Amino acid sequence: MTARQAPANTVPRRALRPRQWALWQRPKRFVAYLIVLELAAIPGFVAAFALAATPTAEDWLGFAILLVGASIHIQLTQRQEERRRNRTRTVLIDLIAVWVFPAVLVLPATLAVLLVALIRLQRWFTARRPVHNFVFSSISHALAAALADLTYVSLGPVDWHTVTALGSLREFGLVLVAAAVYEGVQVLYVGGVLALSMRRPTVRGVLGSKADNTLEAITTGLGVVTAAVLVTLPPAVAIMAVVTVVFNRLAELEQLQDDVVTDPKTGLLNMRGWSEAAQRALNRVWRAGGGLAVLMIDLDHFKWINDTYGHPAGDDAIAAVADALRRVTRPSDIVGRFGGEEFLVLLPDVDGAAARAAAERIRGTVSDLRIATTDKRGRQALIVGRTASLGVAVFPEHARTLDGLLQSADAAVYEAKEGGRDQVRMAGHRSG
Ligand code: GH3
Ligand code: MG
Ligand code: MG
Repeated sequence: MTARQAPANTVPRRALRPRQWALWQRPKRFVAYLIVLELAAIPGFVAAFALAATPTAEDWLGFAILLVGASIHIQLTQRQEERRRNRTRTVLIDLIAVWVFPAVLVLPATLAVLLVALIRLQRWFTARRPVHNFVFSSISHALAAALADLTYVSLGPVDWHTVTALGSLREFGLVLVAAAVYEGVQVLYVGGVLALSMRRPTVRGVLGSKADNTLEAITTGLGVVTAAVLVTLPPAVAIMAVVTVVFNRLAELEQLQDDVVTDPKTGLLNMRGWSEAAQRALNRVWRAGGGLAVLMIDLDHFKWINDTYGHPAGDDAIAAVADALRRVTRPSDIVGRFGGEEFLVLLPDVDGAAARAAAERIRGTVSDLRIATTDKRGRQALIVGRTASLGVAVFPEHARTLDGLLQSADAAVYEAKEGGRDQVRMAGHRSG
């Protein structure tokens, strides 16, 4: 539950002139959604500010401490954030809630929003995002803070200095409600925009992965700790600054772990990731006494695409096939990129007939693909009528090990090529 943002589009930093804003190139409904939600934020701010107490000297001191902590955090994690930004394809979790959420709990809404504004100002220099995107993220984050503050204050929290052990349970409940509002507003705003800007929105794409959301929950939790420290022992907030910088590193580490098993060009599993997942599936099926199939897919005359349209077009074709594979397979299927223009799909719990049917469906999908790309001169081009040759190996009929299944499927691909391409071949019996 932290600052959710749409990912970095690789858009050059445009001039600040409104007529050149990248916003106007977006679909109308996207622009409309953005503007409606930005206007809808106004009454939210008005309500929160109306109910906010006038900041006391102590509030300003707390504000100053959080601002310094956040600024240290931002300055020390700038490079990492840039790297994370460039890698993230969907929601981007910004760990800054560690500083904003305590402001929501401890300070008047006016100061919480001012903190968001000053944090965003510092972020602007690393964000390299279109203005409309950045402004929208900033507004949604500020509104989330304002409404969470409003909710929390309306629930009537007591002073944490005087709270009893039992009373603290109720207080913690209020904190959770405020956290839910803080998160809910951001999901609504950023998730909505993401859903509108994706061609095929997925739950994961819009809401972020499980790991992302765990990270958010932990970040907000750390924010609660910061709040408690700020109230009881303000100088100790310095410890939180160290913790957040380290935590930022850990978050990056997790992403690096993901990268190890992912093919960057397609987002599919790479050979390492695929093999690990496939071996697990094979072990499971082995124990359960079921079957599974391995499909190997090799695009036909792929070199021709590179030669005719150039390598970037070849890359687009590979990405389009990967997308198609994701689309026509089930969530339990394991889809990977084997190498250049070769892919692997493991189908758990299928027999030969079902595997052949799945392979035929994939073959048909590939041959129907219309791949929008550019040619060697950078002009728009549409590649159609590409085909693939598929080899299918079934456990336990054709082989009993993963290596054996890969060899059998590979041999079947070779036969499909020999047989004239654009076809599915089943493996021969027991080759490994
Ligand atoms: P066949 O029908 O026999 O499979 O013909 P083919 O041209 O697909 O087969 P071959 O294995 O000879 O060539 C594969 C080509 O795929 C060669 C390589 O340049 C290209 N290729 C492999 N990986 C990539 C990639 O990531 N991007 C691009 N653009 N091309 C790639
Ligand atoms: Mg090949
Ligand atoms: Mg090929």
